[in-house]
Amino acid sequence: MARVLIIGAGGVGSVVAHKCAQAREVFADICLASRTVAKCGAVRASIRERYRRNIGVAALDADKPRETVRLIREFRPDVVINVALPYQDLAIMDACLITGVDYLDTANYEPRDQARFEYKWQWAYKKRFRERGIMALLGSGFDPGVTNVFCAHALKHRFDEIASVDIIDCNAGDHGHPFATNFNPEINIREVTQKGRYWERGRWVTVAPMSMSRELGFPAGIGVKRVYLLYHEEMESLSRNLASFGLKRMRFWMTFSERYLTYLKVLQDVGMTKIEPVMYEGRAIVPLQFLKAVLPDPGSLGKTTRGKTCIGCLVRGKKGGRDRAYYIYNICDHEACYQEVGSQAISYTTGVPAMIGAMLMVTGKWKRPGVFNMEEFDPDPFMALLGKYGLPWKETMAAKFTEQWVKALERG
Ligand code: NDP
Repeated sequence: MARVLIIGAGGVGSVVAHKCAQAREVFADICLASRTVAKCGAVRASIRERYRRNIGVAALDADKPRETVRLIREFRPDVVINVALPYQDLAIMDACLITGVDYLDTANYEPRDQARFEYKWQWAYKKRFRERGIMALLGSGFDPGVTNVFCAHALKHRFDEIASVDIIDCNAGDHGHPFATNFNPEINIREVTQKGRYWERGRWVTVAPMSMSRELGFPAGIGVKRVYLLYHEEMESLSRNLASFGLKRMRFWMTFSERYLTYLKVLQDVGMTKIEPVMYEGRAIVPLQFLKAVLPDPGSLGKTTRGKTCIGCLVRGKKGGRDRAYYIYNICDHEACYQEVGSQAISYTTGVPAMIGAMLMVTGKWKRPGVFNMEEFDPDPFMALLGKYGLPWKETMAAKFTEQWVKALERG
């Protein structure tokens, strides 16, 4: 029986706490800590009502390792799940090193003043974690996270060689607001406004933001959506870890509606997405942080969001000397997530894999000292738990829609 400290009581943190509370046979004690303790209190009340379980709550500024160290020493967790913001990753890893506790997150570290998505800062902790005898599991959300495990599963069970991977993230949900983001607006807008990048034959190819797109027909009644090429962090570790299995190309695509892109362009054009501070009435403010303050809180979108997500990997390569195209994916319904844990599907699809990653760590199934990405472990125990905890997956070799995708994705 394990003790888990969850840091960050936003949309994702709430799902992680609910899911850990469901798994009472593994997580005996749960503490949820965040900057705003009232948010932790609301999650505690929901868990009490749904599962008749009590969780601990605490106020914490995780930018200050000393505060985190103090809380870890008081609560004595077996694992810390960091679902605050990427800015806190290194500070929380430092606190784990000091106290000798395992660490897990869902997004790689970013410095506040540069929108850069790189594992280099966290990979630099490998030796120290190994020597301390503790483990860090990086990117245990859906993408990154499940998408990495899908690739490991494809490699282990369905392919001898993998030539290409296209990760395709479709959110066909409608939240009813003119403009909102499904996870933290600041992090989301930093991600989608950067240049597009994909990996081809050992090097990164950079393209203008949103300049490559395709129309794809999605299953489960979702229909045709336009996907745009983005850089996404799991490609950094996957392109390394799959390179020796024949990988020639890896790309990441995400759906955006016309309306979302129009709003985003206007916000960019007027300077509201900038991360450099500007002076306003005698004090420095960051326009993107101000924008976050006026946009809907992603944690509040669950009540109004309708529709589904479809996220998966289209993998092409060889098995037994024959070419094959294979698609592995999950369909998640926003309303079903809201009914179950009071959150929309983006928070849900991130929070469930975070809980599963932690479960595999505390039960010793995924346990090695050092710093790891998800595809470095045996995918089987993770895949076995995904369906059990609400994210059933499907795989197909010859669906009509994937034949259309292969053609559409190959068009120049
Ligand atoms: P939210 O903004 O809803 O929640 C973040 C929470 O972190 C807030 O409750 C906030 O507290 C808290 N927080 C921020 N700074 C600190 C701090 N210094 N100390 C303690 N708590 C802090 O974000 P989401 O829940 O949408 O996202 C959480 C994480 O999940 C992000 O890192 C995001 O990138 C990642 N993510 C990963 C995905 C994946 O598939 N891998 C997909 C979606 C998200 P307060 O409200 O008091 O400021």
